[in-house]
Amino acid sequence: MGQWKCSNCGYTLEAEGPPDKCPACQQSCSFVDNTCYIPDCGGPPPQDN
Ligand SMILES: [Zn+2]
Repeated sequence: MGQWKCSNCGYTLEAEGPPDKCPACQQSCSFVDNTCYIPDCGGPPPQDN
C-alpha cells in the first residue's frame, strides 16, 4: 500500500496506485508517490500546516 499526494490540491490517500481522478478536487491531476515521506518509511514527518 502506498501513499499518494495530489499535486494539485495536496490531498493524500493510501492506495495500491494513484487514482484516475482526485477525490478531493475532482481533477485528473498527477499524483506523486508520497510513501517515503511518511514516518513509517523513515522519512520526514508530514507537514500539516
Ligand atoms: Zn486534488
